Amino acid sequence: MAGKFRIVIALISLFAVTACSRIHYVTVEKIRDSLPAQQVVAGFDIDDTVLFSSPGFYYGQFNQDGPGGSNKYGSSPLKSAVFWNDMNGQFDNFSIPKKSGRALIEMHKQRGDKIVFISARDSSKVNIVPKIITQCFGIQNPDVMLTSNPDKTSFIKARQVTIYYGDSDSDITAAQKVNARPIRVRRSHLSTNTYSYDKVGELGEEVLRDSEN
Ligand SMILES: [Mg+2]
Repeated sequence: MAGKFRIVIALISLFAVTACSRIHYVTVEKIRDSLPAQQVVAGFDIDDTVLFSSPGFYYGQFNQDGPGGSNKYGSSPLKSAVFWNDMNGQFDNFSIPKKSGRALIEMHKQRGDKIVFISARDSSKVNIVPKIITQCFGIQNPDVMLTSNPDKTSFIKARQVTIYYGDSDSDITAAQKVNARPIRVRRSHLSTNTYSYDKVGELGEEVLRDSEN
């Protein structure tokens, strides 16, 4: 009986190790070493990739500052132009740059690569996102696209992005559709975003190690 038990434990351990090792982890140094000598176009998602922006999104979704304690942005805050005006125009003052995002951007800056930001956020009349990107990452006049569309495929293609960093499953699949190299950045444990994050490391993408922060 004890022998059988040991075999079962051994099999479970083997499966666990196999499941873990399926994930292809990389570091910033490994990515740098793998890039061609010539300059590339590096594309970055924004939310949960380079900025920890959950505070603003959390307020947007869960505030009780409307009439009678309701949400001031209505029942579908992410469809509210007022929300996006506040998010893009004010709340990013409270977004925190991710260490991993800084390290990635720094690496591409040192190589002289072109850096573009492609976010699925809705566009808005007021927009401080480029200013925040400049402040956090030292990029002057950053190329920031707010696509208002979760499918970034055509935007990644239009900017001729060759390597694309994102946290969502949809970031990875969009890059793959146009043969850009997708790198997964992990969300912070404090992120309030649960959308499109079921297949980390399972889509054939590389995963940046310790990229939660
Ligand atoms: Mg994101």
